[in-house]
Amino acid sequence: MTCKGICIRHKAQKPVGSGRYASGQKRCQICEIFIKWDGLWCPCCGYRLRTKPRNLKYKAKLRARTKKGGIVETIEQPAVIAV
Ligand SMILES: [Zn+2]
Ligand SMILES: [Zn+2]
Repeated sequence: MTCKGICIRHKAQKPVGSGRYASGQKRCQICEIFIKWDGLWCPCCGYRLRTKPRNLKYKAKLRARTKKGGIVETIEQPAVIAV
């Protein structure tokens, strides 16, 4: 699994006004490049392409917020009270 230089031909331009993943681009970790490609696997190195952003923490927060309608459960840790 190495970069053969094929991915350059499918290289995606940075989209204006929206995220790369949102506009259908995929990221290859091996080639370290964003490409426009319909398949799940990199046409260059054969590695699985990433179709979603990596920040899962941010996602979990969003989920917690929507669940209780405006309240984030995880924030209620009273770290200061124990003095
Ligand atoms: Zn490549
Ligand atoms: Zn690749």
